[in-house]
Amino acid sequence: MYWCSGVIGTSVAYYLTRAGHEVTVVDRQPGAALETSYANAGEVSPGYSAPWAGPGVPLKAIKWLLMQHRPLVIKPMLDPAMWRWCLQMLANCTDGAYRVNKGRMLRLAEYSRDCLRALRDETGIRYDERAQGTLQLFRTQQQLDGLGKDVEILRQSGVPFELLDRDGIVKVEPGLASTQHKFAGALRLPGDETGDCFTFTQRLAKMAQDLGATFRFGVDIQRLEKSGERITGVHTDAGLLTADQYVLALGSYSTRMLAPLGLRLPVYPVKGFSITVPITDASCAPESTIMDETHKVAVTRLGDRIRVGGTAQLSGFDLSLADARRRTLEHVVTDLFPRGGDVSRAEFWTGLRPMTPDGTPIVGATSIDNLFLSTGHGTLGWTMAAGTGRVMADLISGREPEISLEGLGLARYGRAAATRAAAGGGLRPARA
Ligand SMILES: Cc1cc2nc3c(=O)[nH]c(=O)nc-3n(C[C@H](O)[C@H](O)[C@H](O)COP(=O)(O)OP(=O)(O)OC[C@H]3O[C@@H](n4cnc5c(N)ncnc54)[C@H](O)[C@@H]3O)c2cc1C
Repeated sequence: MYWCSGVIGTSVAYYLTRAGHEVTVVDRQPGAALETSYANAGEVSPGYSAPWAGPGVPLKAIKWLLMQHRPLVIKPMLDPAMWRWCLQMLANCTDGAYRVNKGRMLRLAEYSRDCLRALRDETGIRYDERAQGTLQLFRTQQQLDGLGKDVEILRQSGVPFELLDRDGIVKVEPGLASTQHKFAGALRLPGDETGDCFTFTQRLAKMAQDLGATFRFGVDIQRLEKSGERITGVHTDAGLLTADQYVLALGSYSTRMLAPLGLRLPVYPVKGFSITVPITDASCAPESTIMDETHKVAVTRLGDRIRVGGTAQLSGFDLSLADARRRTLEHVVTDLFPRGGDVSRAEFWTGLRPMTPDGTPIVGATSIDNLFLSTGHGTLGWTMAAGTGRVMADLISGREPEISLEGLGLARYGRAAATRAAAGGGLRPARA
């Protein structure tokens, strides 16, 4: 079986190898997790699992676009895929769609956190992990008042949470003591965890190799070959590779690879940025993850570093680093933890979140007999990785997954997406 080596592909590879399958992973990078899984914000955050598309978001988006330290950036482009994706996302900004989507995301994210804990217990894998929750920080009373729907869904789904005043905030995050006057309150999700996704993926890849999986790094996949209703091979710059089953986990690049087969994947890259700051005074640094709701920036402790991640930028596959985005991340971390770290020594990074318009990933079988998808994990790929690996391994092994896959597959986008598009059934080469 073949797929790619971000956190999602590696997790699928690990669980499938463990289940006794013969597995080959193909990735264009020289190692695992060198694209979007490299320097994300580090949250394993089922409690915070929610689609970006929600009621009120279109209005908020206008405000975000006008802020100095803006969480949303849209580069006007003549890219029909981008505008189609935006329209699909807007269609999901209703009360009903939000509840359905959040419920689906929570189902996979909660299960995934449990799988991650079990994996840790079974293998002892270490990745600068902590299990001290997420603190969603609100600077205004209006933000706190708007929490009703999320709290109701958390309650219905049995996800533990606490509402904290300033004293409560400082108790769980003592590093915020000097800046507590800036906050109106917080929502704490004690079941959430944190950790370095890159270290995790690298170590999991090694564990999969030790179990017998083959990783072929530095190999670029050019196109999939299909005959009848089956994939018959993968054309790469190292020649044609064949297998009996194929899992596609190319993150944001999955859409282009599937288009020539006539599968329309509604996954679009949403660019994000992070800085990784060395800690200078641990008592003034975060303990876990703080999510600044005003700037939509997450600040996470990873060992002796602070990872600060955020911004949603629609600009296609462009991977350039913009100083303005760096300044926003620096502003948030120094505003919250002025003595925690040295931002002048920070490493600046960008990655493309593979986003679906409804926030929910696309996990499961396709209309092509031996092709499975594991993509579209958007803002929560690290959170959902272990659970995705586990359900995919169960599905491909012919076992009933431990959670329902209802609403997680491509079929939820209707027949047009899930079956061959009339004009696109051929095998045109796809560029990655
Ligand atoms: C700023 C930022 C902050 C984030 N914070 C969090 C967070 O706190 N918590 C969380 O859960 N998630 C977070 N995410 C999201 C998370 O990082 C992603 O959802 C996740 O990394 C996606 O993993 P993936 O394996 O699907 O994609 P990737 O990691 O991009 O993996 C895809 C792989 O496919 C390979 N590939 C692509 N095309 C080809 C080809 N043609 N041939 C060969 N190989 C190919 C690439 O080399 C890559 O290794 C964040 C993302 C960003 C950008």
